[in-house]
Amino acid sequence: MRKILIVCPICNKSKRIPVPESIFHIEEGSLLKIPIKKNTICSHEFILIIDYNFSIRDYEIDKDEIKRIQQIKKKNEDLSIFDIVI
Ligand SMILES: [Zn+2]
Repeated sequence: MRKILIVCPICNKSKRIPVPESIFHIEEGSLLKIPIKKNTICSHEFILIIDYNFSIRDYEIDKDEIKRIQQIKKKNEDLSIFDIVI
């Protein structure tokens, strides 16, 4: 079985995971969506879109997850402003 290296689009952690059998049946030029569950690679959940060549084309991230990341980002930005003030 073939394994592909998947990189989390959120935290950049990576792991090799075996590809599902269905990838062998997709037609040339078409794409396959693979849901990556929590704790498969890291604590994030996202959908991986790969093509028939096993290359990663895109990611779909849950909207709530994006919101959460933006909140964390905002917090970090606030902190950096605070740092400058000090
Ligand atoms: Zn992650």
